[in-house]
Amino acid sequence: MITASAFADKRYAVLGLARSGAAAVEALLASGAKVTAWDRQDIAREPFEGRCELADPLQLDLTGYAGVVVSPGVPLNTHPIAAHAAKFDVPVIGDIELFALARPELLPHKVVGVTGTNGKSTTVALVHHILQMAGIPSVLGGNIGDPILGQEPLAPNENGVGVYVLELSSYQIDLTFNLDCEAAALTNITPDHLDRYDGFAAYAAAKERLFDMQSASGLAVVGLLQEPVGTIYETQKERRPSGRVVSADLEKIAKYQPQWPALQGPHNLENAAVAIAIAEELGVKPAQWQHALPRFQSLPHRMEIVCEEDGVLFINDSKATNTASTAPALAAFPPDPSINEGTPRVHWIVGGLAKEEGLGDCAQQLGMIAAAYTVGEAGPMFADLISPHASVERCELVSEAVSRARDAARPGDVVLFSPACASFDQFRDYEKRGEHFRQLVGVFADRPDICAADTLKDEAA
Ligand code: ADP
Repeated sequence: MITASAFADKRYAVLGLARSGAAAVEALLASGAKVTAWDRQDIAREPFEGRCELADPLQLDLTGYAGVVVSPGVPLNTHPIAAHAAKFDVPVIGDIELFALARPELLPHKVVGVTGTNGKSTTVALVHHILQMAGIPSVLGGNIGDPILGQEPLAPNENGVGVYVLELSSYQIDLTFNLDCEAAALTNITPDHLDRYDGFAAYAAAKERLFDMQSASGLAVVGLLQEPVGTIYETQKERRPSGRVVSADLEKIAKYQPQWPALQGPHNLENAAVAIAIAEELGVKPAQWQHALPRFQSLPHRMEIVCEEDGVLFINDSKATNTASTAPALAAFPPDPSINEGTPRVHWIVGGLAKEEGLGDCAQQLGMIAAAYTVGEAGPMFADLISPHASVERCELVSEAVSRARDAARPGDVVLFSPACASFDQFRDYEKRGEHFRQLVGVFADRPDICAADTLKDEAA
């Protein structure tokens, strides 16, 4: 656990006791802080009964509090906690801010922070993998894996300073004010989460704050220079010495991509370029990342290869919850003159709870698809939009879509589950949705190693 004497004897309220909130309470208590914790669910409060005060900060006089630590799941734009804390001049912060405040007490180290609408998890997992393979100790946390405060701090080591690699959502950045990353990255910005922001510009500005918090000597890395990232790149250039802002250098690395099975598609080339720029900043040599990248294993639910059966590749990309993340997945399998006479190869299973109207970036990739199989609430919308351009089968359930896609696919084709939608119409989250797809594929392919069939009932979870 990460603790700091800086918190000792100070008073904090913690609102939201899911994973990161619970880790924050533990770290604060272990640091000698006085904590008032709250979650509207009894079950979340239970572990803290008798260990700290349990009270809703909205009902409290917050005079003298050093901060209200809020879970990133709390919508600051509509929840009354921000206004309540402001009345007492108490900052509303998150667990990443506590980590930032604890940094001076940690052994010498560096911090990498990565944000962006898509590609955050892949990029941080890549940075972590490259560092580890290069023998540089690193800890991965933030929006991925275990909360950072709950993890063991980096121990002394012979290979120089270790690195904390943090995936940061814009909600987490909104709750952070003092995180000076030695290297920070912004992969891309496309419309998403707009219910939490006052428009697209405000969402982009939230992400840019990761760069604004850096010292001028820190490195800022951006993905492609598309708007609004291009403008952010120019602004950041103005506040730093030359060479301290770089954009993804695809040319430098494209020739290596065929050797990276878990990093196919144009989006992964971009993620790899960002990760490599960060790794080189941290002292990794080209030979080291060239050794590491072919050995990277894809994260679950992100272009995850489930299996190849009768020459058909089944890919689980359930994490693609918007059209901007599905578009590069479609582009990853272009027609190939040596396969099925160069006809389109992708059998695309799409639909769920739409986050946007229309096909977005997927509209430019319709030439890649052999057929679409529409599912979920947004299924009819996608069917109407796609049917003028490609063959569509209206399926509703993922199970039906997988069955039909499997029947239609020829050797050399790809069955791609990349829904371009949120999962909540039929599943608890994108993970459950992806597991469901994986299990269906396992059943159809008669591969018990991929699935446990008893969880197939889960479709409407
Ligand atoms: P995040 O953590 O930002 O949600 P992930 O790495 O988990 O990003 O990827 C989420 C989804 O977006 C996956 O479907 C993935 O294939 C797609 N994706 C990954 N990187 C990019 C990128 N650079 N641009 C667009 N889509 C991407």
